[in-house]
Amino acid sequence: MEITKKALVIEDEENIAELLQMFLEKDGYVVRIAADGRSGLEQAKSFAPDVILLDIMLPKLDGVQVLKRLREEDGATPVIMLTAKSEPYDKVFALESGADDYITKPFVPKEVIARVHAVSRRTERAADETRNNKILEFDKLLINLDSYVLLVDGKKIETPPKELELLYHLAKAPNRVFTRNQLLDEVWGFDYFGDSRTVDVHIKRLRYKLDGVSDQWTLKTVWSIGYKFETERDASDSDETLI
Ligand code: CA
Repeated sequence: MEITKKALVIEDEENIAELLQMFLEKDGYVVRIAADGRSGLEQAKSFAPDVILLDIMLPKLDGVQVLKRLREEDGATPVIMLTAKSEPYDKVFALESGADDYITKPFVPKEVIARVHAVSRRTERAADETRNNKILEFDKLLINLDSYVLLVDGKKIETPPKELELLYHLAKAPNRVFTRNQLLDEVWGFDYFGDSRTVDVHIKRLRYKLDGVSDQWTLKTVWSIGYKFETERDASDSDETLI
């Protein structure tokens, strides 16, 4: 499936907005224009753009306020500020306001597109890293160790930190068998004062939350060894990998 990229241009000067729209559409973007700060904010929510080009001097709500609110609500969308030499705002001001980049008016098309590409690459990479490092997704299961959130079938399930860390540790290496002692060392730490029953108790609580949710993964006991997070796909085509 081809993914359409969306750009939102928040700019009250019609000719500049249309010029930007033209450049961006030529580059394959679907573009919307907002002519004031307030409608810009609304469109940022409803249109969910991949990138926002934001003028500073805007009616109703200026660019700085728009950016501030955007960052409060959703920190992820890259924002490029449009600054003008004639206005008392420079690149430092734009970047300190929380913009990802800036473009000085008057601009050349090539530069606009280059900047849009650069911030998109940057945020995509950042998102990938977050996904790879701290968020695991399986059928009806999302483990987010950045914000310590567990979503089961789309619902947030209250889970104590160690329980979530244990689940994350197992799910990060699907189908790998961990011994209780390994889990104690790796999740609780070497100097943790406790025994392997600690692991059993936590697994039991996790099972209570996770059993029967999906047929594509399960928290499995490997008899006399320990535990694994078994996934359907790998279980069928690989032999048991013991440590
Ligand atoms: Ca303006």
